[in-house]
Amino acid sequence: MYSDPNNIEDCINKIKNAPSIGDVKKIMDDLYPTLFITLLDEYSDDYTDLNKNWNTMCDNLKVKKQKIIIFDNYDNDKCTLIKTFAELFTLSGFLVRCKNEIFPCFFCNKALPSKDFYDLIKYKNIINWSPCCIKCKPI
Ligand SMILES: [Zn+2]
Repeated sequence: MYSDPNNIEDCINKIKNAPSIGDVKKIMDDLYPTLFITLLDEYSDDYTDLNKNWNTMCDNLKVKKQKIIIFDNYDNDKCTLIKTFAELFTLSGFLVRCKNEIFPCFFCNKALPSKDFYDLIKYKNIINWSPCCIKCKPI
């Protein structure tokens, strides 16, 4: 399980003063070598609103849209530092999700919500949950 280090204040100062988001990623990999799982380009075409929300977020922040970052699952209450990492990536145009929320379509590798995450977001009346995109589904 992930938790905050004892010198969390130092760590937060260090990452907030890092020269680039690449440096932030290096510090994160040193502290939490198993946290970062993968990058996905965007959400599946089935979930256009999720992509739209992300576009709006980037427009508001005046940053270029980057990629979806998948983190290992962590406990929100015990991981202030991990939340700070997620925040900094978000401010740089990334969308950060945990692996219990998002997974890649087996066929096209675009992001799909897990069943649990699907139940939380308002898509129930639009499409049924599926383990792959509608257009990728084998006949
Ligand atoms: Zn697909």
